[in-house]
Amino acid sequence: MLSVRSIFGPRLRSSMLLLQSSTASYSASSAAAIQAERTISEGPRNDWTRDEIKSIYDSPVLDLLFHGAQVHRHAHNFREVQQCTLLSIKTGGCSEDCSYCPQSSRYDTGLKAQKLMTKEAVMQAARKAKEAGSTRFCMGAAWRDTIGRKTNFTHILEYVKEIRDMGMEVCCTLGMLEEKQAVELKKAGLTAYNHNLDTSREYYPNVITTRTYDERLDTLQFVRDAGINVCSGGIIGLGEAEEDRVGLLHTLATLPTHPESVPINALVAVKGTPLQDEKPVDVWEMIRMIGTARIVMPKAMVRLSAGRVRFSMPEQALCFLAGANSIFTGEKLLTTPNNDFDADQLMFKVLGLVPKAPSFGENAEKVYETEEAVSI
Ligand code: SF4
Repeated sequence: MLSVRSIFGPRLRSSMLLLQSSTASYSASSAAAIQAERTISEGPRNDWTRDEIKSIYDSPVLDLLFHGAQVHRHAHNFREVQQCTLLSIKTGGCSEDCSYCPQSSRYDTGLKAQKLMTKEAVMQAARKAKEAGSTRFCMGAAWRDTIGRKTNFTHILEYVKEIRDMGMEVCCTLGMLEEKQAVELKKAGLTAYNHNLDTSREYYPNVITTRTYDERLDTLQFVRDAGINVCSGGIIGLGEAEEDRVGLLHTLATLPTHPESVPINALVAVKGTPLQDEKPVDVWEMIRMIGTARIVMPKAMVRLSAGRVRFSMPEQALCFLAGANSIFTGEKLLTTPNNDFDADQLMFKVLGLVPKAPSFGENAEKVYETEEAVSI
């Protein structure tokens, strides 16, 4: 029997006893049960084997959901869901060939390339997002990287600073970064940098050929070294096998430090992209990804991201139960449709969810601790 010792605080012992008594008769039969119990008692690990993660992923889905929920409740306030807003500040015309992306200049999707948005327009969007309850504002630019974009990069540093001064967490996704740029973003007050791995190392060349998996990992390392939180996840529904989904989670869960944020996206197939005819994933596939991510990376914010628009409120409720604790709100997710604002407000009310307040680390949090989360 593992000792009851945890990073998760004083609630653990009684909850563990309850968990042990309620699952004793079948915990041995489910990898989700065994590994969730281990995660709760030992805390996050970085030495996962691919087979271990595969066994969790392959557990009976209701068992995976139940044990994802157990880990979630030990590591997080289960009622809190962070609302993030993702704005495309520079749309289209990207030189990369990501086969799911309507912003690639290689595909005829009818999307018009635009220049970097002005400061006024970005700030207006950030204020609107804050008023609507978002505590994280993410800015996306359709670039391979930021090298040679000195003027635009300087503008983005200003945007980061001003939005951070509004009391919001700020995230950017601008393509590949160099070490120096990561340091500058950190100085400007960036909370997190998003750079998804998308899929497994093995399947990756089927999705994108213009940058390598290792280049993506390099960017994540520069972000981590600069002291910026890492946001990295992937997309399901690209035509990959379940083994590739496991491979993606394995890479993330064996990084020296787990990403603070793991977006789980379901492909939104866009006409004109090479993946336009891929079938939509069903909610049980999302639940498997979310529950597994929650068990293997217990402290991460697991973000129910693109593709949420296709899920009903009960389906989203199951995703939250399995361990998701963040959504993107607002009309669009970069260029694809997103859930209706009023429907999200109603969902929070019906499910008893509360918006998660922003978090800036121990010192910065004190500055903002008087700000109350808006109850819906
Ligand atoms: S996902 Fe990003 S890097 Fe890839 S084509 Fe789209 S905008 Fe460019």
